Amino acid sequence: MSVINQVIEKVKRVDPGQKEFHQAVTEVLETLEPTVKRHPEFVKAGIYERIIEPDRTLMFRVPWVDDKGNVQVNRGFRIQFNNAIGPYKGGLRFHPSVNLSIIKFLGFEQIFKNSLTTLPMGGAKGGADFDPKGKSDGEVMRFCQSFMRELFRHIGAEVDVPAGDIGVGGREIGYLFGYYKKIRNEHTGVLTGKGLEYGGSLIRPEATGYGAVYFAAEMLATRGLDFNNKIVAVSGAGNVAQYAIEKANQMGGKVITVCDSSATIIDDKGIDPDKCCYVMDLKNVKRGRISEYAEKYKASCYDGKNVWDVIREQGIKVDIALPCATQNEIDGANAQALVNNGCICVAEGANMPSTPEAVKIFQDNKILFGPGKAANAGGVSTSGLEMSQNSMKLSWTREEVDKRLLLIMKSIHKSCMDAAEAYGRKDDYVTGANIAGFIKVAKAMLAYGIV
Ligand code: NDP
Repeated sequence: MSVINQVIEKVKRVDPGQKEFHQAVTEVLETLEPTVKRHPEFVKAGIYERIIEPDRTLMFRVPWVDDKGNVQVNRGFRIQFNNAIGPYKGGLRFHPSVNLSIIKFLGFEQIFKNSLTTLPMGGAKGGADFDPKGKSDGEVMRFCQSFMRELFRHIGAEVDVPAGDIGVGGREIGYLFGYYKKIRNEHTGVLTGKGLEYGGSLIRPEATGYGAVYFAAEMLATRGLDFNNKIVAVSGAGNVAQYAIEKANQMGGKVITVCDSSATIIDDKGIDPDKCCYVMDLKNVKRGRISEYAEKYKASCYDGKNVWDVIREQGIKVDIALPCATQNEIDGANAQALVNNGCICVAEGANMPSTPEAVKIFQDNKILFGPGKAANAGGVSTSGLEMSQNSMKLSWTREEVDKRLLLIMKSIHKSCMDAAEAYGRKDDYVTGANIAGFIKVAKAMLAYGIV
């Protein structure tokens, strides 16, 4: 049995029940098979066995008091997965579904994504099973302060630099950073996604969504295509989705879908820049439900369904799909429906939004398929740029950061293409992203000896 299969079997045996982690490890390791023959030194040094084991797994109690005076208890996580090429870096997710398996899958993926960015960042992820939805600002603040009361001792600007993810946006980063600053008595770049007034970078909020569209545009260009007049489906209504919609519009696309966890909107007339501003205000300021969009703009609303189910059930044609909500949102049936309806390109704004069956269908049908670790790497790349600005104690202009983001996305696209070709899988972005990300980390691990 090859070392790859042995490692996959071991992961399933020692951590039964961690299905998202198994899925991520299997997806990455299976594509690394060609590296085994070419790099016997990796096998000898146990790189494949070591890379799937986190450096450190932290789980902690997060007690806080709600507005009624009741004590609430959540579970906090930080997984420092691998710091071979730089300080640990990766977001925090606050969502009731958060568990060890989900944080491990995200932390594992982050190793390769961060490596692809060309910036010196290791892989980590964290969060809590706390749901900010429906909580008052005071409750969110007290939760964030309690979370940081434990996390602060494990992080630092040169050690581990968390950022946002689902449920952790500007408000939460503000509370987390404010509390870290107070108990550490230092103002350093320990978190990214900060407000502009206290060390944040221009373009960081936009970066993941913009980056996913830049990556899709690079893939389209390989076939002489672009966004102009293309019908675009976006899922989610959060940070990544909002800026994916904004950039797709700017590039000439017509976005017709948006969703949150309770409903999907189909707007045949297109979610134009004004409507996109409305979505931003609705979700970021009013913290409302996406169904309100349907009332305001007389669009179709499908309660309890995600974008991809609605596209399949209604037979809607889209050219470009940008899943930007959550993991495993596109299953095999939905992927087949996208293919049947003429979709040409899928760029994952979210992490692992396509199931393995969906990915296979996209690849078998020669759809341009950009996996999350490449297509959504613009967010962490710009976090890396925020860290650089914090270290240098200066701020770049919007144009400067956007230019760097675009260059990084082009470079990631090229790395994926080059690695895929070099290892005999031309045009396979999944294999290309995994191998390109892996080789750099593996070589660094090799240099350190057995640690
Ligand atoms: P947000 O919390 O800002 O938004 C998430 C959106 O997805 C919300 O609109 C949410 O609905 C919706 N959603 C969540 N779960 C579901 C579901 N099961 N079905 C339908 N809709 C759902 O998170 P982000 O935009 O930051 O993150 C989205 C994805 O992008 C995640 O996979 C994240 O890991 C990934 N990502 C994010 C990066 C970033 O910089 N923020 C960087 C790289 C990847 P509701 O409003 O009801 O909660």
